[in-house]
Amino acid sequence: MLLVNRPIAVPRPLSSVLLFLLLSGCGPAQPEPVRVQWLTMGTVAAVQCVDHAAAPKARDLAQSAFDDLDRELSAWKGDSALAAVNQAAGSSNSVAISPAFAKVLGYALATAKESDGAFNPLIGPVMRAWGFNGADPRPALPEPGELAAARALSDWRKVEFSPTKDGADVRLLMPEMKIDLGAIAKGYAVDLAWERLTRAGHTNLLIDLGGNLRAIGEAAPRRGGWRIGVRSPFNEKEIIGFFILRDGEAVATSGNYERFVEISGVRYAHIMDSRTAMPVTGMAGTTIVAPDAMQADALSTTVFVLGPQKGSALLRGHPGCEALWIPDAKPLTVIATPGLAARLTPTGKTPYTLTVLAPSSP
Ligand code: AMP
Ligand code: MG
Repeated sequence: MLLVNRPIAVPRPLSSVLLFLLLSGCGPAQPEPVRVQWLTMGTVAAVQCVDHAAAPKARDLAQSAFDDLDRELSAWKGDSALAAVNQAAGSSNSVAISPAFAKVLGYALATAKESDGAFNPLIGPVMRAWGFNGADPRPALPEPGELAAARALSDWRKVEFSPTKDGADVRLLMPEMKIDLGAIAKGYAVDLAWERLTRAGHTNLLIDLGGNLRAIGEAAPRRGGWRIGVRSPFNEKEIIGFFILRDGEAVATSGNYERFVEISGVRYAHIMDSRTAMPVTGMAGTTIVAPDAMQADALSTTVFVLGPQKGSALLRGHPGCEALWIPDAKPLTVIATPGLAARLTPTGKTPYTLTVLAPSSP
């Protein structure tokens, strides 16, 4: 998995830190938050903590949440609960799943319905047809017949999902159907970590799992949250602008540069249009700010597929959610909902054209 160009939390530029010290005129400098980073679930996880001494504990708590979910939802572990549901595809028996799994799958299926399949948690067979998810690399493009078969198997309506008092019973109605929660599970993992850290009394920290971020408190007094840099999808070193992620808010990004396969020298990105079983083209990246990380994760993928017009219409049903789109074209253009456009401060170092979408009316 290639991980670049995710939004990042950045320390204040040195100049503004110095200016603050000059103006405040007294007291020791407030140290910048410490960042602890590690590898997990095939990606980079991090916590940034204002209280440096709390960082190891915060890291352990966050990792325990990620581990708990990975056991359930891993697409790679043959003994995960997700693998058990996929293995039972086509059988007449349903599989009982835990409350956490049920919450993620229930939200994923609701998002599929709401977006008319633009978000599709049954996309597994299409991913494999293109050589993702552990399938053999493709020497040539998949044949139309293979794609049509994969598309038919990705029918999210062919899932029986019955909530129970202990989670849900799930049945995939056709053999070879495969759930893929790659577009939502990391967001939920961040929410679980956020809840455990909050409950344990941690304050003023930022959790990050592969670019899915959620804030507790603020990075420094009066900062109002955490400064988040939006990177250019065309150059991981370039940050095009910043915004402040407020206490409790989450941000997620989807990008065509994050994971891809190369077939006959051409790159094909990992976000699929399940109506055509083809990788989405024309979009380089999307970023969503939302009240929780599962919603941010699911919506960043959804609006990547839908584009700005349909995507912003869908966001009307999601209070507190804002988005930006960066089309896969030069010169660099950012299309943003009014709420996010108002919060975005350009760095000035990477010029871009900003298009602000019309305000959404409920
Ligand atoms: P994200 O990085 O959150 O946008 O998620 C992308 C991942 O979600 C891909 O690597 C696939 O595992 C999966 N995926 C691809 N296309 C879709 C889609 N249209 N709807 C839901 N999940 C998808
Ligand atoms: Mg996502």
